[in-house]
Order: sequence, then structure tokens, then C-alpha cells
Amino acid sequence: MNANDFTYVCSECGHTFPIAPGIMVCEHCAAYQQADRPLRGVLDVAFTGEVRGSWDPLHLLLVEREFFPGIPVGHTPLWDVGAIVGRTRQSALTEHPHLFIKDDTLNPTASLKDRASFLVAAFARKHGIQDVVVASTGNAASSMAGVGAAAGLRVTLFVPKSAPRAKLVQSLQYGARVIPVDGNYDRAYELSLEYSRRFGYLSRNTAYNPLTIEGKKTVALEIYQQLGCAPDYVFVPVGDGVILSGVYKGFCDLVRLGLISRVPTVYAVQAQGSDAIAQAFRRGGFLPIHAHTVADSISVDVPRNGYHAVKQLLTYAGRCVTVSDEAILHAQHLLASSIGLFAEPSAAASLAGFLASQSDIPAEATVVLLVTGSGLKDIDSAARLVSLPDRAISRIEEID
Ligand SMILES: *Cc1c(COP(=O)(O)O)cnc(C)c1O
Repeated sequence: MNANDFTYVCSECGHTFPIAPGIMVCEHCAAYQQADRPLRGVLDVAFTGEVRGSWDPLHLLLVEREFFPGIPVGHTPLWDVGAIVGRTRQSALTEHPHLFIKDDTLNPTASLKDRASFLVAAFARKHGIQDVVVASTGNAASSMAGVGAAAGLRVTLFVPKSAPRAKLVQSLQYGARVIPVDGNYDRAYELSLEYSRRFGYLSRNTAYNPLTIEGKKTVALEIYQQLGCAPDYVFVPVGDGVILSGVYKGFCDLVRLGLISRVPTVYAVQAQGSDAIAQAFRRGGFLPIHAHTVADSISVDVPRNGYHAVKQLLTYAGRCVTVSDEAILHAQHLLASSIGLFAEPSAAASLAGFLASQSDIPAEATVVLLVTGSGLKDIDSAARLVSLPDRAISRIEEID
């Protein structure tokens, strides 16, 4: 890579900005920011470089290789579902023979968020910044804490009081400073920004820091490398819409490099109780909602990257599908019991979205489901669809 190959471009007005630590959103569009609405002026990274011969995803990122921490983020396996289920077993998973799962539960902190934290950590190191601050209800926090620990950074987390316990404990194990906020995620978001601005720390807030989108594009680059081509369909669980934009960004880079001819059809999968992006896609315009779903990582009232995500869905003929909590929990159990992949509910949503859309997808199509976080992150939800044994035995005659 060459640092001159990268600039920021506003996803709304097209203004360009240099890549620098203090630059986060487009100052022109941010002037129109309203409360309770998605972020205005989210920045994309424009990449004008070339690749020759063999390349890896790091070549397409704006920080030099030497600044990335040694923790092994990414390069996660692509599961060939047909090969695992086999031809003889009848299952909802065998109707499409070219069905793959990108298993991002196998990142170091057990979620796809590590891809963003990895680039943010490298950027901080390149610029001599020692402190990173993030507001999050869960995976972004534990991810920044873990990747930050490996990178030798100090990580401060602003978390709403109600944040899930497992993700908090995980963050504390990594040594992060956790600041509980008396209020919701929005309040934690505001306070974290005020704090990072006051002390000159780097904010990793999702969508606000453009590197959160850019870092997540590596998942699309890896899918292309693992398949040897672009898939026809990709199913992405969507909350704030940052993973969705990262997936689009990766495929757009591949189109620009001439490696693929078109961007795949992306399905944005949302929970019925947290469907702000799906609503805006259908109707135009965002209305505040009160999200409620078992899938906590995709439960958001105001999707931070909403405008940008909807614009990309419209530009590339993407689709939205919403699924019930029941369908999500069913998909979680199907994944675990039929191929041995234990995903958190938000991550299993992509399978639920696929099952709901299966009849619209040609049988020969290549389909990739993104599975974004581990089931061990939220045991209480996973426990809802299984029955824990309530009686212990002392002799085998007692087994019924
Ligand atoms: C964050 C997250 C999502 C949703 O990503 P957005 O960028 O908020 O749309 C999905 N699944 C898991 C496990 C996550 O942690």
C-alpha cells in the first residue's frame, strides 16, 4: 500500500478529506445532524491503488503492515455447508448446494467486530495515540478491549448500565476501563465523544470513526479469496449497518480493481423488533423506534450508519428481510445442531433471513451467510430453546 492511495470521501456530498486522526465525519453534512437520527456525513475510504499478483487484504488497508498488532484477526474459515451436512441428510440447509458460512465467531474476541478494532488499533499506533474510547453495549467494547490489549493501548469503554454481563466480564478481563453510564446507548455514545474530544483520545464509535467500516471490508475480501470468485448472495445481520457497509466496501474495491464484475446481491437481515433500516429502505426516512429483540447485537433504536446503509442498498439493488425472535432462536439451534456452529442470536439471524428468502434464490446460486459472533457470548438467550436437565442420576437404570 501507499498512503497516497487513500482519502476520505463523504458518503453524502462527495467532499474529500485527508486521512488524519481528528477527522471523523464530514463537517459540511454534520451541520445538518438531528437528534435521534442516523449520523450525517459518514466518511468512506476511497482507495485508488492497484494490486498485482498475489495480494492479501492488508494491501487494501490504509495503515502499513508494521503497525498492526500481532493478534490473529480475520482469515476466518469459510464452511462448506453441503460438505458438512452431506448428501444423504435431508435438511433445510441442503436445498442450495452452494451454501457457505463465513465463520467470524473464530476471531480472537469471538466476533466480527475485531476486524474494525484491528484497523483502529493499527491507526492509533501509527499516529502515536495511546488511548482509544468506545461506547458500546457489547461486542464492539469487548473487541476493542481485547485487540487493544494485544496492541498495548489503553481502552476506555462507556457502557449503558444494562449491558450484557458476559461481554462486560470479557472486557474487564482484557483490562479495559469500564465506565457504566446511567442512561441508554445514545447517552453513552454522547458522553464517550465528549470524553475523547476533551482529552484528544481516538474514538472507535461505530460509523463515527470511518475505520470501523473500512476495517470490516476484509470479510468480503476474504470471501472472494476463499471462493475464488464473488458469491451471488450474501446475508448480513444488520443493526447499525456498519458491517453491511463494510461488506459493500470490500466488494466495491474488488470491482474497482477489476477482480470481479459486479457487487453481489446483499440481504440486510434485521430482527422484526429492531428494523429501522428495513423500514427506511421501504418508506424512505428514519423514525425513532424502541428496539426490542433477543438478538442484542442488532438491537438499535437509531442505526448510526442508517443513511449510508440505505443508500448502498438502493444503489446495488440490495434487499431487506426481517425475522422474528422465534425464527432467530430456531436458526441458532439449527446451526448448532446440524453443522456444529454455535452462534449468538444476532449472528444466527443471517440464517433465519436466508431461510425466509430461500424461495427467491435460484438453486444453483452461491450463497454466503455471515455468522458474526459466538453463542457463548449470550448463554441466557441460547438456553431458551433447550431444556436443561433437572435431575441427576446415580445409576444408569435411572435414565429414562
Ligand atoms: C455488531 C454486530 C452485528 C451488527 O453490526 P452492525 O454494524 O451494527 O449492523 C451483528 N452481529 C454481531 C454479532 C455483532 O456484534
